Amino acid sequence: MKYIGAHVSAGGGVENAPVNAHEIGAKAFALFTKNQRQWQSAPLTLNNINKFRENCEKYGYLPTQILPHDSYLINLGHPEPDGLGKSRTAFIDEMTRCQQLGLDRLNFHPGSHLNQITEEASLLLIAESINIALDKTKGVIAVIENTAGQGTNLGYEFEQLSFIIDHVEDKSRAGVCIDTCHTFTSGYDILSPDGYTETFSKFDEVVGFGYLKGMHLNDSMKLLASRVDRHDSIGKGFLGKTVFERIMNDPRFDNIPLILETPDETLWAEEIALLYRMIKS
Ligand SMILES: [Zn+2]
Ligand SMILES: [Zn+2]
Repeated sequence: MKYIGAHVSAGGGVENAPVNAHEIGAKAFALFTKNQRQWQSAPLTLNNINKFRENCEKYGYLPTQILPHDSYLINLGHPEPDGLGKSRTAFIDEMTRCQQLGLDRLNFHPGSHLNQITEEASLLLIAESINIALDKTKGVIAVIENTAGQGTNLGYEFEQLSFIIDHVEDKSRAGVCIDTCHTFTSGYDILSPDGYTETFSKFDEVVGFGYLKGMHLNDSMKLLASRVDRHDSIGKGFLGKTVFERIMNDPRFDNIPLILETPDETLWAEEIALLYRMIKS
C-alpha cells in the first residue's frame, strides 16, 4: 500500500493537520507540532492532543502514515556548546510532543558542522544528541533525513546516515527518510534507470531498507550534484515524472508515509491524484 500525502499546515492547532490532509485526498501527512521558526512554543494542551487523535481516527490516519518534521532551527551537530545545548533541549521537546500525540516517528535534518569542526566530529555529536533524546522519551523513532549537502549540512551521503546509526545505542528507534530532491542534488543519479537501480541498491547495502521510515517526494529545480536544496512540483523540475512512476511501482516504498514538500500547495491534491494514477495494479 502506498501512503501518499503532503506536509500540511497545523495552523490553529495540530488537530487541524489531519483535517487539512483529508481535504486534499492524502493518505499520509507531515506536520510541524510547533512553530518551526521559533525556539519556544506553548506546550500541547490536552484538548490539542485529544482532538488530534480523534481527527486521525476519523479520517483513518495511523502513526505509520504520519511523519512529523522538527524545527529548522535545531542543529544536533552544532560545534558550540550553547547552540548544541539549545538544540538538544528543543529536540527532546519535539520528541516528547510526538509521544504525546501517539506518533511513532520524528523526521529531522541531521545537522551542520558550520566549518568549525570536522564532519566526523559533528556526526558523532548528532549520534550523541539522538542517544540523549531517545533516553528521555519513549516509543518515538528518530528519523534522519538525507540532505542536499547545501552549505555545511551533513547527511548528503548514505555513509553519513549509516555512520550516525552505527553510533545510536537503540537501533530499533533509529530510522531514515529519503528525500528525492536531496538524493538527486547531493549527487545520486536517480533519473536514469540504471542510476535509480544503483542508488537504491547502494542505499540498501549501506543503510538498509529496514531503516526507511518515510520519504519526501519532491522534484528538483537544481541539477544532479548541485548540492542545492530547491524543491519543485512533481514533473516540473529536473526529475520529471518518470522517477516518481518508478517509485510508485516499487514495493520497497510501501507502507511508509510518502510526503510532498513541493512549493505550490494549491497543486497538492492534483499531485497526490497524479501519483496514485501512476500505480499500475
Ligand atoms: Zn525533505
Ligand atoms: Zn529540502
